[in-house]
Parts: sequence; C-alpha cells; structure tokens
Amino acid sequence: MDTQPTLNSIDTGRATEAQGPYDPQYDPLVDASPGTGRDYAATYWIGTAGEPPGDDGPIEHDIEVDVAIIGSGYTGLTAAIFLAQEHGIKATVLEANRSAWGCSTRNGGQAQCASGRLKRSQWIERWGLDVALKMHQECVDGMETFKSLISDIECEAQPGGHLYIAHRDRIMPVLEKEARLLRDTFNYDVKMMDAQTVRSKWINDHEACGAMQESEGIGIHAGKLAFGYLKKARALGARVHPSSPVQGWETRGGFHYLKTPGGTVRARAVGVATGGYTSNGLHREVKNRILPILSNSIVTRPLTQAEVEEAGFHSTQFATDTRVLRHYYRLMPDNRVQIGSRSAITGRDAPEKNMSSC
Ligand SMILES: Cc1cc2nc3c(=O)[nH]c(=O)nc-3n(C[C@H](O)[C@H](O)[C@H](O)COP(=O)(O)OP(=O)(O)OC[C@H]3O[C@@H](n4cnc5c(N)ncnc54)[C@H](O)[C@@H]3O)c2cc1C
Repeated sequence: MDTQPTLNSIDTGRATEAQGPYDPQYDPLVDASPGTGRDYAATYWIGTAGEPPGDDGPIEHDIEVDVAIIGSGYTGLTAAIFLAQEHGIKATVLEANRSAWGCSTRNGGQAQCASGRLKRSQWIERWGLDVALKMHQECVDGMETFKSLISDIECEAQPGGHLYIAHRDRIMPVLEKEARLLRDTFNYDVKMMDAQTVRSKWINDHEACGAMQESEGIGIHAGKLAFGYLKKARALGARVHPSSPVQGWETRGGFHYLKTPGGTVRARAVGVATGGYTSNGLHREVKNRILPILSNSIVTRPLTQAEVEEAGFHSTQFATDTRVLRHYYRLMPDNRVQIGSRSAITGRDAPEKNMSSC
C-alpha cells in the first residue's frame, strides 16, 4: 500500500544549533537587540516537540530576495505559507534566535473564536453592529483557516469547543445575555449550563457558578504546531534563517536593506512578524508600539487516572474563567494539566527558584 509522506515524516535536514544560552532576563522593551542564536526557553512544549526541524542556516553573505519576513513564529511562518500557496512567492524568513523561538513555543495552546478581550456586546457598543458582525466573521474565518492549516500537522489537536466559566454568581446573567446575543445576532452556537452541570459533566471546578459552552475551540501542542509550520513553509519553498537578527534597516531606491551579522538581505518587500519581541530600534514604524503583558503557562506531570477522577475532569475541552486576569486550564491527551494565567508585568523574579505568589 502506498503511504504518502506526511509533514512529520519528511526529513528536513538539521536544525541550526544554539549560539548562546536562553536569557530569562531578556526584555525587548529595554534591550536594543533581540539576541543572536539564543537557545529556546526550556518550556514543556520545546521539551516534548521532538527535535527542532531543519532550517536554512544563518545568512552567510549578501542576498537578494523578493519578500523578507522578520521573525519565525506563527505569524512569520504562516505568512510564508500563504505567500507560497496563494501568490507563488518563496519568502525568506529571518529569525534572530532559534526557529520559532518567541511566544509561539511558549503559549497556552488555545485556538478560540475570539479577538481580544472585549465581548461581542462591547464590540457593538463601541463600533456598531455592522463592524461587530464583520469582526465576528473574521474570527469565524480565522478558525476555519486554522483548521485547514493544521489538517496535516500532528500537533495533538483537541477539538470540541471552549468552556467559559463564570467565577461569580453575578456573572451568570451577563453570560446568559451574551449567549442570547451570540445565538440570535451572530448565529453562533453557544449553550449555557448551571454550576451543577459544569461540575458533574465537564469539570469539577469548585468555583464554577455556571458556564457558557461554545462549539468552537481547539487545544494544541504549541511547539509541535510551530515546528509543523516551519516544515510546511520550507516544503513550500520558503527559506528560514535562524541566528540572523535584523540589526539595521535602510530603504533606498525602492529596496529594503536588512543588515544581519552574516550579510545584508536586499528585499523588495518586508513583513514584520516580531510580535512582542520587537526591539524599539528595528524600524521607526514600530518604535514605542509594544506594551508589556506578562502571561504564564505551566504543565503538570501526567495525572494518574485516580487523580483525573478526583479532580473531576470529564472533558478535555479547555476552560477559561471570567476573571479580568483570567485563568485557563485543560486536561491534555496524556493526562497532564496545562494551566495558564496573567500576572505582573516586569518578570524581574523570573530567575528565582522559590517565588511566592501575591
Ligand atoms: C504564556 C503565554 C500564553 C499564551 N497563550 C495563548 C493561547 O492560548 N492562544 C493564543 O492564541 N495565543 C496565546 N498567546 C499569544 C501567542 O503565543 C502569540 O500571539 C503568538 O505566538 C505570536 O506569534 P508571533 O509569530 O507573532 O511572535 P513570536 O512567536 O513571539 O515570534 C517573534 C519572533 O521574532 C524574532 N525577532 C524579534 N526581533 C527580531 C529581529 N530584529 N530580527 C529577526 N528576528 C527577530 C524573535 O526572536 C521571535 O522568535 C500566549 C502567549 C504567552 C506568552
């Protein structure tokens, strides 16, 4: 029987080694440079994603390209995928550190049909129904795009939806009103349930006062997803160059000149995909555009079956609560629990081994 090679079985060659250790104190708001070839943060995702896929090595001399993309996280790699698939453009991705070094290998792994923190009712209040409907459609289209992107990437996808848990009784009427709006105005499939149903059928969250369950929502392995995008982009002809930080950017005669330690990349067009790791000096257009938001994600050891039962996990759907600084968690395929939350914004305690919570 013929077996087609999958992205996971394609030999992509070797990944460029780290040129320096991970620096937990690095702060893109303060440091002038994003680093060069820094190793990955020692995240659960990196530890369990398998060997990083092959790449195209650091830039070693001057080159000319049509499109250069700065940053090799989800944004940069998917931009390269779509440029190849939809426009036949083989982009050149420049990454300061190791491939997919930034947030894309450090996050909570939740794909939600959402955009930002505001509820749909708040969209309507601020921007009117017409804009809100368009924003909702963008979220729906985004989920469909995401499903199609991961259809051939083994990233431990856990589809099925999202549970939005009311952490106070007073939140339930707000959620009920929002659920009606979602169903009636946005034609979006959501259900309300009381605390007893949440605890006995979904998750025995002792603080749950009820929940809204939405049908869209997929949990994924963040590192496997990033590595899958990397393989897919390269399989489509994109080139990905780690250890190639853009340290200078000049534009003249209709071309961009991106200076990296190994050579200058002359490009007709440039995409900036540096996300929260954008240094102030990269380009005047992005100067002072970054706000600090600190977000945490931890993963436990696999729970025993007895522990899963005691904790009352009846579902692997991820749950977020309605706190302003929200908590979220899910049971992963091997019975680990992934837990996330927001927190203070400086991160100065990161190197401490024993941090107290406040
Ligand atoms: C703890 C945590 C939990 C999160 N949970 C979720 C979640 O559940 N769901 C969700 O949708 N989102 C979540 N996010 C956000 C999500 O991870 C990011 O939005 C996403 O990964 C951003 O991808 P990106 O490609 O834009 O940036 P990144 O993945 O951060 O990539 C930017 C890259 O640019 C590189 N770079 C910077 N400067 C230069 C330069 N000058 N030259 C070359 N390269 C450069 C960096 O080295 C970096 O690798 C979470 C984030 C965190 C931190």
